[in-house]
Amino acid sequence: MDKLKIWQPGLSWETAEKKWDKKSSLLNQTHPLKTLGSLPKMPGITEETAQGLKWKSLKYLLTKEAPQRVFFRYFFKHPIRYTLQFIKSAWKKHSYSRDGDFFYYGIQSVDEFQNLLSEENILFVIGFSYCHKPHECPSGRFSPECVRDPDHPVCRQCFIGKAVNALPLHQDHIRPLFIPTIHYIGEQLFQLREEHPDKKILFLITACEMTLEMFGDWGNMIQAQGIGVRLDGRICNTMKAFELSEAGIKPGLTVVLPDTQMRILDIIKMLWSRGSSASDETV
Ligand code: SF4
Repeated sequence: MDKLKIWQPGLSWETAEKKWDKKSSLLNQTHPLKTLGSLPKMPGITEETAQGLKWKSLKYLLTKEAPQRVFFRYFFKHPIRYTLQFIKSAWKKHSYSRDGDFFYYGIQSVDEFQNLLSEENILFVIGFSYCHKPHECPSGRFSPECVRDPDHPVCRQCFIGKAVNALPLHQDHIRPLFIPTIHYIGEQLFQLREEHPDKKILFLITACEMTLEMFGDWGNMIQAQGIGVRLDGRICNTMKAFELSEAGIKPGLTVVLPDTQMRILDIIKMLWSRGSSASDETV
């Protein structure tokens, strides 16, 4: 894929982005994707679902995890530590603080996040929920795969495609993930925690508001810090919709709103300046 790279050392961010967007607009004329006609007005979580949501998430994780047994497999490696951290987080009304579509876990601001990103001992996990992959995604929507081919007419119009192509993936501390289920991302984070006990895990993960509310305590339990990015569009705001989505039944599309896309890209842009001079990587 190297010959196809748009974001690359020596080319300015602005030039690369303009190049990406120009072709994306042209493809929108020749290969239009199925999109949401308009944004539905939906509450992030229905009133009924919001009742006792922490317990519903605990029950869900402990009873619906076959066949991976993810949490049992990893949790019992450090049961006391994880239990104490979970209780500490669950005790609070919310496991996060919020700034628009950004939900902060273990941090207070984007500035703090960016300062942490520039540290040497971090692992940066950037994850995208499958529900905002386009219907026409060549890797399939309910899948942890993403070919992110910048010359593919669908990938070139996809926000995930743009964000991942813009990542400086030659930096080995960056782990992009495409998330089909909550157990998948849970397992990935647990694994990273086990394999890199000396590293600080920082995440930026897109998800529905309900998921950000439900599983924040689990992220705090393994002391991952980061930002959950709220999705809009045809989100899951009931347990029923969430469970169907976890089984790959998600006919509706979610979206990252335009301003929020820019906030994510600003963070990715900042990664290019990490550990290299500006002239090496970008302007
Ligand atoms: S960039 Fe990834 S998620 Fe987007 S359409 Fe291509 S394969 Fe699918």
